[in-house]
Amino acid sequence: MSELKNASAPATAFPGGTILGYPRIGRMRELKKALESFWKGASTAADLEASAASLRGENRTRLAALGLGRTDSSIPSNFSFYDHVLDACVTFGAVPTRFNNLRAADGSVDLAGYSTIARGVGDKAPLEMTKWFDTNYHYLVPEIGPETEFQLNSTRWVDEFVEAKNDGFVTRPVITGPLTFLYLAKASDDAPSGYQPIDRLDDLLAIYVELLAAFADAGAEWVQIDEPILVADTDADRAEVLANATKVYDALSGAQNRPALFVAAPYASLDDALPVLAATDVEAIGLDLIRGSVPASVDLRGKTVVAGVVDGHNIWRTNLDEALAKAEALESLGGTVTVSTSTSLVHVPHTLQGEEHLGAELVAWLAFADEKIGEISTLAQARAAGEGTVSGALSEARTALASRAAHPGTNRADVREALAGVSPADFQRSAYSVREAAQADRFNLPELATTTIGSFPQTPEIRKARAAWAKGELDDAGYEAAMKAEIAAVVKLQEDLGLDVLVHGEAERNDMVQYFAELLEGFDVTKNGWVQSYGSRCTRPSILWGDVARPEPMTVRWAEYAQSLSSKPVKGMLTGPVTILAWSFVRDDQPLATTANQVGLALRQEIADLEAAGIGIIQVDEPALRELLPLKKADQRSYLDWSVNSFLLSTAGAKDDTQVHTHLCYSEFGEIIDAIDGLDADVTSIEAARSRMEVLPAIKQHGYERQIGPGVWDIHSPRVPSIQEVTELLQLAKDSIPGKQLWVNPDCGLKTRGYAETNESLEHMLEATKAVRSA
Ligand code: GLN
Ligand code: ZN
Repeated sequence: MSELKNASAPATAFPGGTILGYPRIGRMRELKKALESFWKGASTAADLEASAASLRGENRTRLAALGLGRTDSSIPSNFSFYDHVLDACVTFGAVPTRFNNLRAADGSVDLAGYSTIARGVGDKAPLEMTKWFDTNYHYLVPEIGPETEFQLNSTRWVDEFVEAKNDGFVTRPVITGPLTFLYLAKASDDAPSGYQPIDRLDDLLAIYVELLAAFADAGAEWVQIDEPILVADTDADRAEVLANATKVYDALSGAQNRPALFVAAPYASLDDALPVLAATDVEAIGLDLIRGSVPASVDLRGKTVVAGVVDGHNIWRTNLDEALAKAEALESLGGTVTVSTSTSLVHVPHTLQGEEHLGAELVAWLAFADEKIGEISTLAQARAAGEGTVSGALSEARTALASRAAHPGTNRADVREALAGVSPADFQRSAYSVREAAQADRFNLPELATTTIGSFPQTPEIRKARAAWAKGELDDAGYEAAMKAEIAAVVKLQEDLGLDVLVHGEAERNDMVQYFAELLEGFDVTKNGWVQSYGSRCTRPSILWGDVARPEPMTVRWAEYAQSLSSKPVKGMLTGPVTILAWSFVRDDQPLATTANQVGLALRQEIADLEAAGIGIIQVDEPALRELLPLKKADQRSYLDWSVNSFLLSTAGAKDDTQVHTHLCYSEFGEIIDAIDGLDADVTSIEAARSRMEVLPAIKQHGYERQIGPGVWDIHSPRVPSIQEVTELLQLAKDSIPGKQLWVNPDCGLKTRGYAETNESLEHMLEATKAVRSA
């Protein structure tokens, strides 16, 4: 164990506790509004800068008021206009060559250029967007090649530190670490095959050294370097990752001119990376003690250990006694322990203020970002001055937790009994060959049957009607009539186009999860609980707090109405249990598997009611199946087991001649192909257009007897695919999958598209299908 090198590191770092990051979007989504106004040309870059600066100012003032130290580097500065990984790209000069025109002579990129890299322009694709670890936050994927010239191209991070300092705050800049940055990057289009971004580690390290010096010169005492890649099992060889961790943190901690270094590793446990980091001279290490447990036998003497004992990724009030016990257990490893959140708070809403409609009882069980900071302060004070000094807060927390545990809604006998009554047979349908024959008889569909994924464009009129209904300006009958008119128009459009299997278009759904959350018991919905999903986009996850039950049918009357308008089958449309869990804040007081099965039973009842109403084809969407996949390989098997089981519990009650579809919205199939097989859906639609059917040969090789609809139209942009293009994709698909197993559909739902491109694209899809059918 080496001695502390950097004399400037205070003896007790972050004495009042800290957080790994704070929501960036603003309590009233100020950043969203400022960005979108800038993009529309309604405000200038200077206006956007001013809004962002005032948001940062308000945030640091609030954080100090909530108890974080004003001048001891406990307040993180983790602002970003769009995404922190994109910030790292423009700071380090990692801008793809197709965007060279956006760079000034010194390599820097202004806010307009930054936005263009995030959002694309003309035929220049933006950086690809993908999910950040196992969260619903999306980051932009860096593109690195031999042509990437790393340079310190932006002073923004340092400027933001100085801005705070001039305001009387010494904050802690938060940056993405070099390992996470390079391992998440993909090789640029210009890179030779086999090129790996991590090959550029030495070049990039030199820039980090320069950046650390700039922070030190500006007066920063600490910098937080986020390295969540160290907690994840990736395709990279683990020994190589660990060797690189040693290299990076030896080099950075050995730099002459630098602030103290705090390496944070949220989302799971560091495992074998912890002793590796501990052996370097970094001053502080952050551990996620919500996902991981207190490590055994690692020597952390001389380090500050930032104990992530408050869940940064979920919204439940912390069990403060347990948190204190964890922090204390951590002391045995020899470091100086301080308390923190397990992850950045960007994953939770700002505040419970304004959510009083949830009821005092539920509110007392919750802690959003600001309330979590209160918990951190309580914990820090309990540790510093004794539990007696915060006995009121501690007992209040105990009372709230006890009330949650004792609440009848968290432990309903009817729900528990229903689940206990489930038997293995309830998870199994008849053999596929039996179902296939029954369904062929019933529907008599052509080869290459055509359909869509579910939603049709959510027009301004639909949104207006919903808003008016929510405000009470439109009565139930008026809203019902407006939605039915929309459904009728969507059905007519599909009949005119000549699709084989129709949908009702989902006009009545504000969101594919919230719609169900509002109709199921055990859920509640916030008014202002927005969480950044990507850029200016936010979602408002529902709160799944109790046992789940379905008081009455949720989708039947809409499905029945749509089916009454056509002699062709109209698909019933449900969101699957895993996706409902993934896109909600889920109770943490029982295994996810139990909660998923409760949702599964509610969906099973819905499917029975849809069947009784004459609906013959039912789609259960699971776009989030991949997202919840645990970061550690060792945990993946059991996740896939329970997630697949909850889907089977939802769907396996269906009759043989009911055709069950599922939709999964991504293309990384290789990893979970067995799980997809396990879902046992009669038809599975997937995203495939952008990757040009790349996954199909693998599926063929794996052997897949059921039907599959690889998307032939990338709906993520308004671009209309030509007949020729779709024809080629269908031919490619037929090379791997026999025509009778193939469906023709877009990549995903059409809710974000306009009607102009929707009509034309669907026409092209149908023309191409005709051509390939008769070829
Ligand atoms: N049925 C949904 C829709 O079409 C599926 C959306 C999704 O996969 N995210 O909108
Ligand atoms: Zn999708």
